Formats: sequence, structure tokens, C-alpha cells
Amino acid sequence: MLWQVQTRGDQIRFTVAMALIVLAISTALRPLMLPPELVAPTLFPGSVMAIMIAAPIGWIVARRLRAVHDLSARLEHALHHDLLTGVRTRASFHEAVAALEGQPCAVIVADIDHFKGFNDCHGHFAGDQALRQFATILASNCRGTDLVARFGGEEFVIVLPGVDMKQGGRIADRLADRVRSSAIYVGERSLSLTASFGVAPVQAGGDMDQAIQQADRALYQAKHAGRDRVCRYHPGLDGPATLREVS
Ligand code: GH3
Ligand code: MG
Ligand code: MG
Repeated sequence: MLWQVQTRGDQIRFTVAMALIVLAISTALRPLMLPPELVAPTLFPGSVMAIMIAAPIGWIVARRLRAVHDLSARLEHALHHDLLTGVRTRASFHEAVAALEGQPCAVIVADIDHFKGFNDCHGHFAGDQALRQFATILASNCRGTDLVARFGGEEFVIVLPGVDMKQGGRIADRLADRVRSSAIYVGERSLSLTASFGVAPVQAGGDMDQAIQQADRALYQAKHAGRDRVCRYHPGLDGPATLREVS
């Protein structure tokens, strides 16, 4: 877009620019359109009139452009972020992973424990509130360069660029601790949650989807082991017994 009217300052600059352009045009056209003897006497009143007409129109157009910009920014955000939790959607996660250009990282898969029971006990609305706060705990304990995405239901994936397996495990431990110790507010009530985490490494140029599957296996190991904990992926988890059969 030629004019990016994003702030009130941009709106003022746009209006001033419009008024100056109209003033310049009216000054340039006056000798062509008026008899020579009228050019000088009409310069001041003509200029004032040009500004008085152009400035309000410029202001209204600028306000419209600013509204269009705000709307397109909101649409852009809605396209890439989950409406309930505000973290990335799965589709936008994959776009963002492509932009990492194969740098090594750690992947964490997180899943809220016994969330069906939470919904059954406190209601779906409370479940939604809890999901929102859970996502906020994850995102607020990560760096701005980390990717946090909701993969579905109460399962989230976090990518930590430039982080190795050891650090990734420590970060997941910290996240588990924050989730465990954070109050989940639902109206007047203060509730609590726990979550299980699986961690896997992605080598430079490595396969992200494979790493997510490995972190998922570690996550289900964490569920089998009693939940509310972090498990690190190791090749011993690759057997079929560790695939999604947790009660
Ligand atoms: P586990 O510890 O094994 O993960 O048990 P769980 O109960 O968390 O797992 P399960 O897969 O049995 O249930 C997931 C629940 O998450 C079921 C569903 O009602 C709830 N859920 C998924 N998406 C949403 C949502 O957007 N809002 C709410 N309130 N609940 C959701
Ligand atoms: Mg769960
Ligand atoms: Mg789940």
C-alpha cells in the first residue's frame, strides 16, 4: 500500500501532505485559469479556501486508511493465531518453521493432564478459560523468537531455535513448574492444572515433523509415568508400545 496510515501521527502527516499538494496544484493552475490581473489578488483567499477544503477531506481519508490498516492487521493476526488462545495455529506454525531455515532447535510437545475431567468438573467455559491461561503461561515463559502453537485441543508445540536437548529439557521443566504453581482463575474461583511434556532435538537441517513425533512419544511416556512431568526423547521410545495408548 502506497500510504501506510497506522498512527495518529501518520494521519496528521497525511492530512498536511494532502493540503500542501492541493495548495500547490491550485497555485500552479491559477495563472492558467484566471485573467492575469486576478492571479495576484486571489492568491491569498484562493490558498485559504484550498486548504480549508483539502484538510478536512484529507483527515477523513486518512482516518479511513487507518481503519483499513487496523482491520487488515487484525485479519492477518486472526489468520495466523488461534482465536481462543492467541498462540499460532498449526498452519502458521509450519510457515514459521520454514523461516527458521533448518537451524538446530529443541521441540517441546505439551498436553494438559486430565483435561476432560477438568471440563466435566468445572464446565466447558471454565475449560476455555484454563486453555487460554495455559497458553499464556507457555508463551510468557518463552522468548519472543520461540514458536508456540496450538496443535489441537489441549496440545501445544513449542520450538526453541538455537536450543539444544539439555537446555530444552530444562526449559520444559521450568514450564511444567510454572503450570503446576500458577493459579487458573475462573470467575471467582482459583483452580490449578498440571501438564505433561515431551522434548526432542532437531539437528541442523533436521526433520521437524520427525522431531515432533519423537517429542510426542516422550510426552506419552510422561503420561504413562504418572503425568505432571517432563520426559526427554531417546531412541528406546521408538517401539509401538509408546504410541498413544494412555488411559
Ligand atoms: P490426558 O491426561 O491423558 O491428556 O487426559 P485428557 O483428559 O487431557 O485427554 P483427552 O484426550 O481424553 O481429553 C482432552 C479433552 O480436551 C477433551 C476435550 O473436551 C477437551 N478440549 C479440547 N479442546 C477444547 C477446547 O477448545 N475447549 C475446552 N474447554 N476443552 C477442550
Ligand atoms: Mg490431555
Ligand atoms: Mg491431548
